[in-house]
Amino acid sequence: MKRYIIFTDLDGTLLDMRDYSADAAIPALREIKERNIPLIFATSKTAAEIKEYSLKLSVNHPFICENGGGIYIPEGYFGGEVDSEQFEVIPLGLEYSYLRAELKSAAEDLNLELQGMGDMTDDEIIGFTGITEAEVPLARTREFDEPFVIKSEVTEATIKKLETYFRNKKLEILKGNRFYHLMGNINKGKAVKALMERFEENSKDEWITIGLGDSPNDIAMFENVNVAIAVMKPPPPGHYDFDEKDFPYLNFAEGIGPQGWNKAVLEIITNPQHR
Ligand SMILES: [Mg+2]
Repeated sequence: MKRYIIFTDLDGTLLDMRDYSADAAIPALREIKERNIPLIFATSKTAAEIKEYSLKLSVNHPFICENGGGIYIPEGYFGGEVDSEQFEVIPLGLEYSYLRAELKSAAEDLNLELQGMGDMTDDEIIGFTGITEAEVPLARTREFDEPFVIKSEVTEATIKKLETYFRNKKLEILKGNRFYHLMGNINKGKAVKALMERFEENSKDEWITIGLGDSPNDIAMFENVNVAIAVMKPPPPGHYDFDEKDFPYLNFAEGIGPQGWNKAVLEIITNPQHR
């Protein structure tokens, strides 16, 4: 049987960029549940944060955390061995403490002012992200990716210098909505591939993969799904981070964040012609 599986970014995609609400996508979320379509969150958020969103949106499927740094699979989903919180964890990225140390070395070696999330006060994190005080500890529970800001003047040359520096150490930086991210040689696309192998091992279904995102850190995911969809970014009337010329395979959803998400997902999963 042909079945859909949906991979989605959270910040700015399923969740509104400002208030982190998925309300505009409720019709599509309902339809997804009704049709028993696996909905996989693939985000730069930590596992601790995603667990909260999974509860809030009553989604009980595997998820990809920290930009592809790890895959979490709920107990009983594929029958793998689980941790104390009932998740099977597949680590793909490098250890957080190592990334933190490398960010500090880069700041020294390149004479740049770089501030990692681990060195931010709670108020600074709230200022950058708009999350609540209660959510700060969840955002700090990082395992595979250090978000950071560049406090020195940011020019294209600065970014190039940083990229080269980290690439020589087999590390990568990625630009998300609010932060740059320092991580191992991982991305959402590699995690999508790894997770799809598990789905394929565990079912005879033929999967049609859909991926939704809004930012450059979603490109690797776009490249590893059958149907790639970009949603618009605020402010209204909205714009895309991607150019049709550079991304000819990409579908462009009409609507900012969850509005675009809702429309695009409903169009695909309720339209038999897309099968
Ligand atoms: Mg995003």
